[in-house]
Amino acid sequence: VRINRAVARMFGYKSTDEMMTLPPTVLYQNPADYAALLDELYIQGSLSDRVVQMKAADGVTFWASMTVSGQFGKDGILEWIDGVIANVTERKVAFDHLRDLSERDGLTAIYNRRMALNLLRLELERARRYSHPLSLVMFDIDRFKLVNDTFGHDIGDIVIRTIAELVQRDLRRSDVLARWGGEEFVIICPETNLEGATGLAEKVRNSILNHGFPFAGKVTISDGVASFRDSNDSEDSLVKRADKAMYVSKERGRNCVTDEASVL
Ligand code: GH3
Ligand code: MG
Ligand code: MG
Repeated sequence: VRINRAVARMFGYKSTDEMMTLPPTVLYQNPADYAALLDELYIQGSLSDRVVQMKAADGVTFWASMTVSGQFGKDGILEWIDGVIANVTERKVAFDHLRDLSERDGLTAIYNRRMALNLLRLELERARRYSHPLSLVMFDIDRFKLVNDTFGHDIGDIVIRTIAELVQRDLRRSDVLARWGGEEFVIICPETNLEGATGLAEKVRNSILNHGFPFAGKVTISDGVASFRDSNDSEDSLVKRADKAMYVSKERGRNCVTDEASVL
């Protein structure tokens, strides 16, 4: 019905008249968002700080927050929308950055331990509820102190980063790789039994074994694998069993995979 000049300016149009000739969908980066917004408005009557990606006249996208209230006629038909729209791109970018900082590891950009624990808790609940398999692989770089001592910390850092990349390539999209700490990693494998996860751990171990690292040359890892067993299992118990199996791999001479069933 009417927009003010600030809105036209925000979208980069010369005048409110020019902008008013356009169908609303062209203002959305994803036109389906407009339909979804209207649906929500019909159900809730109003929306508060709903953030959507918009598209300016020059095609550049930005994030907008909409606080709107639908004005409905007697027949329940939406007649017009009263609202305020604000460009919140900076806020959105800052928020995304903060979320990254809290969920991801700074060196490798994969998930950190906190995120791994949260995701593991979620997957355990799912496994428990639907009686689905769930496995956890834990691995640790062998003799990594030697890599640092021989080639320096920077080369050590590159090895850690490269290993994260190599492993990520071996995983399904539903698997989650996280840096557990130092030179230790975990892989959460939903819908995967002990045998399957052990196979994955072998694949990962081989990928690293067959990679030539600049300077460091050959690097190996030791793996431990544990699977969800019963309703008493927690994140901690699963991690503990994978960790125990991993240490058996270390004792067996490193560069190998141990599943918890063979430790018992
Ligand atoms: P093992 O085969 O028994 O695991 O031997 P290891 O030398 O790998 O074990 P240890 O726990 O003694 O050493 C781990 C080393 O990992 C020591 C630590 O300085 C190094 N480390 C941990 N985090 C980082 C990191 O972010 N960057 C680098 N460069 N080194 C790291
Ligand atoms: Mg180690
Ligand atoms: Mg370690």
